[in-house]
This record gives sequence, structure tokens and C-alpha cells, in this order.
Amino acid sequence: PSAAGDPLLDGLNAPQAEAVTYRGPALLIVAGAGSGKTRVLTHRIASLLRSREAWPSQILAITFTNKAAAEMRERVGHIVGDVAKGMWISTFHSACVRILRREAQQFGFTSSFTIYDSGDSRALLKRLVKEHEADAYGLTPAAVQSRISKLKNELEDADSFVRSANMNDPVERKFADVFRDYQRSLQKANAFDFDDLIGQTVYLFRAFPHVADVYRRRFRHILVDEYQDTNHAQYSLIRELTKPVVGGAAEPYAAGGMMIFEADQAPELEGASLTVVGDSDQSIYAFRGADIRNISEFEHDYPGAKVVLLEQNYRSTQNILGAANAVIRNNFDRKDKKLWTDSGDGEKIVGFTGYSQHDEAQFVADEIETLRRSGMPYSEMAVFYRTNSQSRALEEIFIRSALPYKIMGGTKFYDRAEIKDALAYLVAVVNPADDQSVRRILNKPKRGIGDVSETTIATYAAEHNISFRDALANSESLGFGPKIQNAIAQLDAVLTEAANIMVPPSGEVPPPTAVADGLQVLLQKSGYLDALRMSKDPQDEARVENLDELVAVTREFARNNPEGTLSDFLTEVALVSDADDLDDESGVVSLMTMHTAKGLEFDAVFVTGVEEDLIPHRISAGEPGGPQEERRLFYVGVTRARKRLFLTLAMTRAQFGEVSVAMPSRFLQEIPAELIDWRQSPGDVNSRGGTQSRALNARRPSGGFGVQPLAPGRSGGFGPKTTSLEKFPNRIPSKVRDNGDLELAPGDRIRHDDFGEGRVDLVTGEGAKRIAHVRFDAVGAKKLLIKIAPIEKL
Ligand code: ATP
Ligand code: MG
Repeated sequence: PSAAGDPLLDGLNAPQAEAVTYRGPALLIVAGAGSGKTRVLTHRIASLLRSREAWPSQILAITFTNKAAAEMRERVGHIVGDVAKGMWISTFHSACVRILRREAQQFGFTSSFTIYDSGDSRALLKRLVKEHEADAYGLTPAAVQSRISKLKNELEDADSFVRSANMNDPVERKFADVFRDYQRSLQKANAFDFDDLIGQTVYLFRAFPHVADVYRRRFRHILVDEYQDTNHAQYSLIRELTKPVVGGAAEPYAAGGMMIFEADQAPELEGASLTVVGDSDQSIYAFRGADIRNISEFEHDYPGAKVVLLEQNYRSTQNILGAANAVIRNNFDRKDKKLWTDSGDGEKIVGFTGYSQHDEAQFVADEIETLRRSGMPYSEMAVFYRTNSQSRALEEIFIRSALPYKIMGGTKFYDRAEIKDALAYLVAVVNPADDQSVRRILNKPKRGIGDVSETTIATYAAEHNISFRDALANSESLGFGPKIQNAIAQLDAVLTEAANIMVPPSGEVPPPTAVADGLQVLLQKSGYLDALRMSKDPQDEARVENLDELVAVTREFARNNPEGTLSDFLTEVALVSDADDLDDESGVVSLMTMHTAKGLEFDAVFVTGVEEDLIPHRISAGEPGGPQEERRLFYVGVTRARKRLFLTLAMTRAQFGEVSVAMPSRFLQEIPAELIDWRQSPGDVNSRGGTQSRALNARRPSGGFGVQPLAPGRSGGFGPKTTSLEKFPNRIPSKVRDNGDLELAPGDRIRHDDFGEGRVDLVTGEGAKRIAHVRFDAVGAKKLLIKIAPIEKL
């Protein structure tokens, strides 16, 4: 296709332009780092929209981070204007949350479900491991958590686990018990953990094909970035969404007003068109179940798929690219890619060996200052390391040098105890079934409700089969003394007051400030802020500031999302990921792990700790394919650099609680010597030997990922294991009204419990946010959330 004069194709090379303009059921773009994969995806979306082949609402684009999603939305917006707003561009997790919020009531959850982050799951598992006395079997909460996560990424649940594992083994039996109880507790709490967000969406689509069809009809173009890091659950989700729709017999179904078909009316539709882009050399999330075969077998899964290779790198200089290519070439079982650039050699890579990690950090700080003086902004520089703990030495030196920096994905704002408490208060309001959140705030601030009282309440709740929150509301029947009884009643009153602000029982649409107002009521009237203010602990002052910041965050959220609900806010908070706090304007150096660096680019990159046992990490040595994955990780780190690359290491390192002598990483040996300008070389460390032979060992062809047989059932079949519906008893809390199916049209007359009779003027929005604009005879105009308003049609 001719690129002349077309802003979508101008400046793209021929294969890039082909990838943008190709039309067909399936397209795979495989290419090395910095070859414009993400850019092509963005232009492809713009091209579909501009040519009117697709409405924005028909596009689903999946990125690896929320930040990448925001960037892509902005870039598409630049090209096609405001219509970009209606698109779903998001991470797998965010997309699934949106689907689940609309559909959760299909299988026994409500749309205000809680999302458990890994800390929340860990807390729940701690309790269950204790209750089941599983530690006696060597099962720690951490081990159970990671195993459950792995199973869920493979779409296994407790039942299928029991069928496939050896139930004669008492440890396995114990694990199965905990797994099953964990899942039951999540269900009871109206909560999904991170892995469930994907897995349960797949379950939903398989168990309720008419629901899946709604999304199949909606999303006609599905595009996935970083496809090499999808796991089996994510793969299956895409597989479900791209299936054809069998017409005719579709059940009539109104998904929150999205689309309604009468039986026999629904047309047949072929599967959505799917575009995936990726680079198998950058697959670095095997430990989270990422499966490189998803990309290597794409053509098998989607027969007739068009494949486009991109070979020109636009990001890095030849020297940087040469080093990256030379390293990755040492992985076996890969197709060699020719990645080239015409941007010239650029400066040599700089190598440095410090005597200690402090020495190394000092070098990094000095070089950053030199680059800064030569005109490079701090925001264009990044320092990478393999493990979070390596950041400490860097931070110490940076602070001493007054060098502005920011750690991506360190102790996150939302991980702080006071922030988690505040969020638990919000969850207790929006999802009272979530016992864990309610219990978290039961005695925060200290109200004199101790463990014994908590157990009394929990037992009462269990006996009466009600939630912990409901038990609190009934606390008079618990026989507590007046002091405890008062404390509980007060907490109950605060939660109710906040609920009335944030989720008005009249069903009225709350004002945009409702979340902020409700949060302030919770923090003030619960006594939480007062307790911190009166404390003598100097840390508590910072905690008050953090809570102020949280209130500011809710106000900003309200400005950006005038129709955002409390659930929307909590979703956004729960899905903040490591790379998301990156802020280009902030003018600071970014510190992060190489995992977090994926997809990003900087003018100057420092890869630190380039030592054996760090990169490759020592835990990788025993894992099949481990050293190869480490090499890919190093490749990802190196290929983030546009102009300058620094590789640094230390001769001794205090790590794992001891000071040890560090060996240069084998990856350094794989880079042609003439590409590196050693400011201080690891020569004397090298002469101790060892590195060379280890490097040779690394090439032994064992345990490669390419030789594993296909897992059964991965081609998208719908096995019996996920069909059982009894697992999900219909458990909508009786108190929550659900008018989700109520059809209202302008002109209809309704009656509201509080406002009396009125006439519907207009219906807007969809799903849980369908809003009726009603003119009441007595009280005038009101906007009501149809789903929850106490109304009936006359
Ligand atoms: P990664 O594998 O790291 O995710 P990628 O293949 O997604 O990389 P992009 O991030 O899309 O690559 O592009 C890398 C850089 O090259 C970006 O700065 C992008 O704007 C630029 N780029 C891509 N294609 C072109 C082109 N045809 N002309 C000029 N610049 C380009
Ligand atoms: Mg990319």
C-alpha cells in the first residue's frame, strides 16, 4: 500500500504499513525489541476507526499495564479525535473487572464485589492455614498462595485439582482442603482474587454462552500487546472472545441494556478479528504462568493467520542493539531474528565494576549527574536491577547526592497500613459481605473490641449464616457489656451514615463528590484520624498526611470520572500496578526492576548488579528454562536504552544477609568486547575462573520450553471441569435490591418508595449504571440508578 500523504502510514516502513492495513481474521506481528510493535498496534486501531470499519465500542485492546493503556488511548486520540473514548483499551485485569461488574450476578456475586490483592489473599490464607492446621504439613500461606495462583492460571479449580492430584498423599489432601475453603471464603465475601478476575471471566463465558455471545457480538476487533507474556487463562479468554456466534437460537438477553435479541432473530457472526504482537525473546513472566507457546503456536491455533515480521529497530543505537543481539543469540530453541538499525553506532556501552555495591551506586550517581549536565533530563534516565532489595544501596547514595529519584513498584502508597485501613472502610460500605474488610476495621482505631469479642461476633454470624457486617448490626442479641455494645453500635452507625452518602438507599445518583465525602465521614466519625492525631508516634503524622492524600485522590477521581462510583474507584485502586506510577513530567530518575521495565524506553539506562546469582538469579539455576528466562530478562533491560547504556557490577555484595564475592554475569562475556568501554573492569574477578565454565554449562540443551508437550485441553475446548454450576449457589444478599432487568422507557410511570409516583423522561447509561431521569409529581426531577432504586413500574 502506498504510504504517501497518509498520516496513519507516513513514517512507517513497509512491513509496519502492511501490519496496519492488513484485514483478515487473524494477524500475528512478531518482532524484536523496539521495532515498533506497540506503535503498529496503535496505528492499526486508528486505521480501523478512521476508515469506519469499526466503531470505537467494537474494539478491545489489551496492554500490559494501565499506563500503557492510557498512552495508547492518548495516541489513538491524537490521530482520530474524541471517538477514542468509547474504546476498551485496558489490561486483561481491567477488562475482566468491567465484564464481571456487569455480569457477576449471573453466578452468585454482586456487581460491588471486592478485588483481593495479593496481600488480602495472603491474609485470608493465613487464617485458613491456621484453621486447617496445615502448617503441620509444611504448607505455609506463601507456598499455598503461589500454588493456588499457578493452578488458577491454568484454569484449574479445587475440584479439578482433586481429580488430578494424588489424594493418597496427606499433604496434597490438606492443600486441596485449604484451596477449597479459600475459594468458598472468596465467594462468601463476594470477592475475587487477581487470578480469579481472569479465570472466572473465562468460567462465566463457558458456563453462560449467551453472555459470552453478547461480548463476541460487541468486540469485533481484538488486539493484544505483549502476547508472549499471556498465561493459559488469558489465552483462553481471548480464545472465547474470538469464537464465532451461532445465530438464530440465541437467548434473548439484555446485558445491562447493551444489546437485545429476540429468539430466532440473532444473526450468525464469524469470530472477531484478532491481532497479537509480541516477541518471544521478551517473555519474562513464566513464573506467573506466561506461556511462550501461546505465541509460537498462534498459527496453529488460528489457521490461516497472517504473519508479519518487523526487523528494523527504531529505538537503540547499533552498539546497544549489537550487545542485545549477541546475548540473546545464546538462547537455544529460538528463531534467529535479524534486528538492525540505521541510527548509527552511537556511543560505546560503558562498563564499571565497583568494589562494593556502594561504590557501584556512587558511579551510577556520578554518571547521572554528568548526563544531566550535558542536557539529558532526569526523567530520561532509568536504573534497573534484578531484585527490589538492590535498590537500597542506590537509594542511600542518591539521597546523599541529592539526586531526585522515584522507585517504581517499591512499597506502594496503597500498600501502607493506614491506606489499607481506609480502603477497608470503603469496602465495608460497598460490599458488606466482605467479612475480611469488616473485621480489619473492627478495632481500628482501638475501640476495646478484642479477639474474644470478634470471635463471638464471627461465631454468631456463622451460626445464623449471615455476614459479619449483619452480625454487627444485630449486636444487641450478642450479650456484650455496655462498653463493647456502644463501640459496635457506633461503628455500625458510621458505616451506615457513609453508605447513605455513597450509595443512597433512594437509588439517587450520588454526586461526584460522594466518595470523598463518605471517606471523610468514615475517617472522622470512626475516630481513626483523631487517634492518629493524638498519638505521640512521629510516624502517625505522616499517616495523617497519607490519608489526606487519599482524600485528594478521591476528589481527583471525581473530577476525572464525574459518573464514577465507589466501586469504580476501588477498582482503579486495586489495579494500580508497578509501572503505573511512572510520571514523565516529574523530572526524576526512575528506579525499577527489569520486569517492571518491559515496554518502556529511556535515553540512558543503567543495568546494575550484572553478576552471577543476580542476573541470572540464583533461584533460576534449578528451574527448567530458568537461565534462559534470565537471559531474556537481561535482553529486555538492555533494549530499553535509546542512546546510552551502562552495565555495572560490584566485586562484593551484601546480599542474602551475608557479604559475598560476586562474579561477573555470564551475559557480560557474551557481549563482544569491542562494544564495551570498561571504566573499571572486572578483570581480577574474572581471573578467579569459574565464570567461563558456567557460561558453557548454561548452553547445555536441557529443559527448554520448546520441547514440552502441549498441555491437554489448551486448544480452547470446553472441558467438563468448569461446567458445574452447583459451585455457585445463587447467593445474592437479600438486602441488595436488583432491578437490573427492569425495562424502562420514556413515558413510563413508576412508583418510588420515598418519592412517590413520577414519569420517566429519559434512560441513559448501561449495566449497573443505567440511570432513569424521572420527574416526580411531588418532589420534582431526580436521577435514579435503576438497578438499586426502590421503584416499581406502574
Ligand atoms: P518493545 O518490544 O520494547 O515493546 P516495540 O516493538 O513495541 O518495543 P515501540 O515501542 O512501538 O516498539 O517502538 C520503539 C520506538 O521506535 C518508539 O519510540 C517508536 O515511536 C519508534 N518507532 C517505531 N516505528 C517507527 C518508525 N517507522 N519511524 C520512526 N520511529 C519509529
Ligand atoms: Mg511494545
